[in-house]
Amino acid sequence: MQPLLQNLAEMTTHRDHLRLEVSVLSTILALGSNLRVRSLELFTFADEIRVRARCWSENGHVACTPHEALQDPNSHDLEDLPELARCIREHEASAQQSRRGRHVLWLPVWLGDHVTTCLEVTRSHPLTQHQREVITGVFMVYQNYQSLLDYSERDALTGLLNRKTFDEQFARYTELNGTTEEHGQWLAVLDIDHFKLVNDRYGHLYGDEVLILLANRLRAQFRSQDRIFRFGGEEFVVLLRSISLENARAALERLRAAVQAHEFPQIGHITISIGFAAATSDTPVEIIGCADQALYYAKEHGRNQVRYYDDLVRSGELRGRVAHGDVELF
Ligand code: GH3
Ligand code: MG
Ligand code: MG
Repeated sequence: MQPLLQNLAEMTTHRDHLRLEVSVLSTILALGSNLRVRSLELFTFADEIRVRARCWSENGHVACTPHEALQDPNSHDLEDLPELARCIREHEASAQQSRRGRHVLWLPVWLGDHVTTCLEVTRSHPLTQHQREVITGVFMVYQNYQSLLDYSERDALTGLLNRKTFDEQFARYTELNGTTEEHGQWLAVLDIDHFKLVNDRYGHLYGDEVLILLANRLRAQFRSQDRIFRFGGEEFVVLLRSISLENARAALERLRAAVQAHEFPQIGHITISIGFAAATSDTPVEIIGCADQALYYAKEHGRNQVRYYDDLVRSGELRGRVAHGDVELF
């Protein structure tokens, strides 16, 4: 097989966005001498789009940086790259810049109308027409494949990550860090209170509208390193990462209060109940089981409240960690 086809075949074996990205970078790198390729992360902060280069370690993993995106001293304003900024504003497929013997081609990865990643190909001589065409072709296969992958990971109604993605990725998220009270990972299960009444009174379409608005609220509330899933009908799971217990509790309480205060069109006010637990090295089944017990405790004690599993165990209101057999979810 030709090396390029071989690389494309290898690229499409991946089911993980970042592995796929490593693979496309090396496929493009193999297309010419003196090429440099890297990926840029784009993120929005205070209505400004910022850019930072993604760093890879030698074994192909994303190198961890001690900085959160917003505080990263290596990030800069997208407007520092005016050609790329214009391309993104105009929703175009690519941008180029030639300056002081450095020729750059940018290929933003469009997923619907969002861009969070952009490939950057640099060469000391202008790319030949042929090189440009091949790079663009490889990139398009990559972009289509990313978009297919993204589609399969999301729930159609809300656009949040779906239950299948949770099952596949959760273990990976929790194995990266341990959890202490100062710096941990927390898993929250959220459920709309008396949602059946909303459907019964106003109809399913209004019910769906509430789910969409709540999903938007969740996206607005949590940070980029957190992960939000639609777990089932009117049940959502949030994985909060790198945050102290008290800050996690405060974020969930703010969410609960914001939902209670929100006036939903036609329907008026709804409330949510939340149970959360430490996402320790236990199995996902056990962690979900704990958060779920805290949620049901909240449901049984008046709804519209946030409950932390360990508090309930400490105060004797719940038994300790559940045994595998007690969990009905899986
Ligand atoms: P509780 O406070 O105990 O959670 O009461 P509830 O009525 O919210 O709980 P229950 O589990 O009895 O009902 C959940 C309802 O959610 C049942 C179903 O009609 C509704 N539901 C599930 N998925 C969807 C959906 O995709 N769209 C709409 N509109 N409703 C949904
Ligand atoms: Mg409910
Ligand atoms: Mg429910």
